[in-house]
Amino acid sequence: MKIGVLGLQGDFYEHVKMLELLIDKKDIIIVKQPLDMKEIQGLIIPGGESTSIGKLMIEHGLDKEIINAQLPIFGTCAGLIILAKNIIGSNQFSLKLMNIDVERNGYGRQKESFEADLDIISLGLEAGEKFRGVFIRAPIIKSIGEGVEILSKLGDYPVLLRNGNLLVSTFHPELTDNPNIHRLFIEKMVAKH
Ligand code: GLN
Repeated sequence: MKIGVLGLQGDFYEHVKMLELLIDKKDIIIVKQPLDMKEIQGLIIPGGESTSIGKLMIEHGLDKEIINAQLPIFGTCAGLIILAKNIIGSNQFSLKLMNIDVERNGYGRQKESFEADLDIISLGLEAGEKFRGVFIRAPIIKSIGEGVEILSKLGDYPVLLRNGNLLVSTFHPELTDNPNIHRLFIEKMVAKH
């Protein structure tokens, strides 16, 4: 089983390092062109700048390739924005795969970056175990559509969600030393696909 990490912009190398804790190096593919998609069974779209990732995705001919592949995808922060059906107040590119309405930089200026301990409701983490959520100019999910399961919330807003074979977080698990969310993506979503 090979996992791809979209390597066009953003913190993709942090995802690679996290995956190295879980799978063999040779099974981690940095995806930069359509051909790379043929090799993988699951894809991670990293954090970064969603407008840049979107533009580069189109330039590299990866947008349609990713939509058509129907693989399990894990998107963090900007990766979540790229997967969203609706980016509120913006007509920037997105793949429109995940049934959520998202507002970019939703926590505003003074809280552009913060950390918070999250209760992970599902995904098989141990009872009471908290996950350190690193939020950097994070988006806010304002509403969700049918089929979307909320796996964790911070205050009123969902921060970790699943929609079929899509998993998204508004925070950055790749910037912690806790590989549990990546492990669950691999074991529960990619391996079972
Ligand atoms: N604010 C960024 C965007 O809109 C996302 C930030 C991140 O990925 N940490 O693309």
